[in-house]
Amino acid sequence: MPIPRFRQALSAPGLLKEVRTCFARVEDGVASRGLNLTECLMSGLAIFGMKYPSLLQFDRDSRGDGTVGANLRSLYGVARAPSDTALRERLDEVDPRALRRAFTRLFHVLQRGGGLEGFTTLDGHYLLSVDGTGYFSSSRVHCASCCEKHHRDGRTTYYHQMLGAVVVHPKQREVFVLAPEPIVKGDGATKNDCERTAAKRLLSDVRREHPHLKLIVVEDSLASNGPHIQGLKRLGLRFILGAKRGDHAFLYDWVDATPGVETVEVTDEAGVRHWFRYLNGVPLNDTHFELEVNFLEYWERRPNGKEQHFAWVTDLPIKESTVMELMRAGRARWRIENETFNTLKNQGYSFEHNFGHGEKQLSTVFAYLMMLAFLIDQIQQRCCRVFQHAQAKAGRARYFWEKVRGLFLHYRLPDWETLYRALAFGYRAPEPVPFDTS
Ligand SMILES: [Zn+2]
Repeated sequence: MPIPRFRQALSAPGLLKEVRTCFARVEDGVASRGLNLTECLMSGLAIFGMKYPSLLQFDRDSRGDGTVGANLRSLYGVARAPSDTALRERLDEVDPRALRRAFTRLFHVLQRGGGLEGFTTLDGHYLLSVDGTGYFSSSRVHCASCCEKHHRDGRTTYYHQMLGAVVVHPKQREVFVLAPEPIVKGDGATKNDCERTAAKRLLSDVRREHPHLKLIVVEDSLASNGPHIQGLKRLGLRFILGAKRGDHAFLYDWVDATPGVETVEVTDEAGVRHWFRYLNGVPLNDTHFELEVNFLEYWERRPNGKEQHFAWVTDLPIKESTVMELMRAGRARWRIENETFNTLKNQGYSFEHNFGHGEKQLSTVFAYLMMLAFLIDQIQQRCCRVFQHAQAKAGRARYFWEKVRGLFLHYRLPDWETLYRALAFGYRAPEPVPFDTS
């Protein structure tokens, strides 16, 4: 098998170098007590990069026989890993917004390196799927930024949610997260934050950080309301938003009552029947009568008889030649559920595990670092052929990360290329177990 070239910029060393530069600019508010904040942030990233199940495990390993300490130096540039307590204390003080820059930098590196080729659709746009998910809930553990649910019987549930924004494509396996937006209680706020206000903050940050990016925002039916659509238009963001009949009686009545609504029927090579009806320039509802949207409704019937139904409102013109692409773009919204949150929760990243809650920002900072580790992995999966070979050799994703952590624990690794090449092309195990008799 020909040995592929290792693309430094689009593999772990180059990506971590970019992130480190961003971390070095994060304001260090606390007297350092010999611990440098960049090292703490890089250690946090290493925990999620190596898919560690707990901070305690990481603490023990980095203080073990020297192998993990040496690997943290060679792979993550961490000279001395902080203890788990020190790490929690320092990261609790970090403003999560200061970590946004790392996501933006990595996205630019990915774009410049050609990693986003094949990700455009509908006249050169990228699809940005936006949705929220819960990752922490407790009746006991809480911090200053927890949202609170007060039950009738006097109990309180504390929780954190995160609004994610992910660049997706119907035909591509990878997804690329932009900086997420925490749904938390702000400083001194008495009311809980909600997904809708978080979306407002997230989308204006996205526009500020990527002013020229051609984006179509895809969201579920909760987003197809007047104020949100007006906000999207103000930011120059195109949209494809779910539109359920139950939420849009006025819109559906309007379409039903309009004579000559266009329909399209296509049966593809796999025998799947696609049936569309659409109408451009429909008033969204009574209250926002002046706000016109284009309406697309779709039924799919598979040869086994299984049927599905979807409907969207969009500002993209609907024509016979674009209905299939619009439908695929609208359905790509699910990739934030299936390929992002699900992977983070069930494929080694332990998104719902409580690594430490802290008193201020720790929970959010850990969530950011985990998403950053996920972005680095997805870029490598897309762009680094050595990484791809290593992954293919391991088979399942979870097994791949077990193998990565196994090597990280037991072998001194001079660099990332050695780690991935060992996994891709095999390595000799030391036999027998070399006992330490000193
Ligand atoms: Zn909290």
